[in-house]
Amino acid sequence: MIDFKIIKKSKKSAARVGILTTPHGAIETPSFVTVATLANAKMFMSEDLEAVKTPLIISNTYHLHLRPGEDVVAKAGGIHKFMNWNHPVMTDSGGFQVFSLGFGHDQGTSKIPNKKEKPTVKTGAQPQHLKITDKGVEFTSPVDGRKIFLGPVESIRIQEKLGADIILAFDECTPPSANKEYIAKSLEKTHAWAKICLAAKKTDQALYGIVQGSRFRDLRVKSAKVIGGLPFDGFGIGGEFGAEKSEMVNMLKWVFAELPEAKPRHLLGIGHPDDILPTMKSGVDTFDCIAPTHYGRRGTAFTSEGKIDLNKVMYMKQLKPLDKNCACRVCTGYTRSYL
Ligand SMILES: [Zn+2]
Repeated sequence: MIDFKIIKKSKKSAARVGILTTPHGAIETPSFVTVATLANAKMFMSEDLEAVKTPLIISNTYHLHLRPGEDVVAKAGGIHKFMNWNHPVMTDSGGFQVFSLGFGHDQGTSKIPNKKEKPTVKTGAQPQHLKITDKGVEFTSPVDGRKIFLGPVESIRIQEKLGADIILAFDECTPPSANKEYIAKSLEKTHAWAKICLAAKKTDQALYGIVQGSRFRDLRVKSAKVIGGLPFDGFGIGGEFGAEKSEMVNMLKWVFAELPEAKPRHLLGIGHPDDILPTMKSGVDTFDCIAPTHYGRRGTAFTSEGKIDLNKVMYMKQLKPLDKNCACRVCTGYTRSYL
């Protein structure tokens, strides 16, 4: 069960300030959501996330199903107890893995389209390592090679056992390389699965519906109308958002014009520093991205003076903070040289 209150709306943009209350605490929105795929943000202990006042994390159904399995997490007392995190948690349905382990894997592509490429994924096409049907998706486990079937009901059952505060409907995240006909067909599936997810859920966890439709205005509008018309507690916007930031802003405009204004909106997989302002101005309430942990683990820091690559030799001798304008425990306790 969640409660969402919009406290203030911008006069200059679609931005809004709100409070999203969950059984594990309230989140001031707009807010960045930290990615904790396997119930941990890579390289961090839950205490570290607490120390920087992380308001909300997102874990992943598919990956936790593989390892250690939802039954183990349930036996531990649910995801909050399992990861020693008494704050809000959401889980992704596994829909993104339909893309990342499917066509995304085959073509070595991300959600950001390559402009020069013509759509290669046509109706009826299947990725190499998984099989997408009207009922769901069959994956092959990279851990032990066993077949894993994930459909709307399976995804909800797993997410119920994991026990996050906010769970997501199972969808097909389509690749940027798909043509319009493929995406239109896929959308029918995602919409049918959304209804099955709503009917399958037995807990009082909040359930978000997912809007897909890729780069096509008519499909995005259609998806927002269908999903927005269903009794979800909030909405996620997934899939491709175009090659340019301006395209993403347009797509969000199409979608938000159709969604009920009073319900929370989560933008899936977007949150690079450059994306944050346009995202908030578009009226997004929460958004998740691997950027901080992805770049941090590779030695890149985003500072008030711009991006710093600590792998460069010049930083080895600099006994000054990463960012002199930052009061965080890294900037106040450590030098660039040490880092
Ligand atoms: Zn800092």
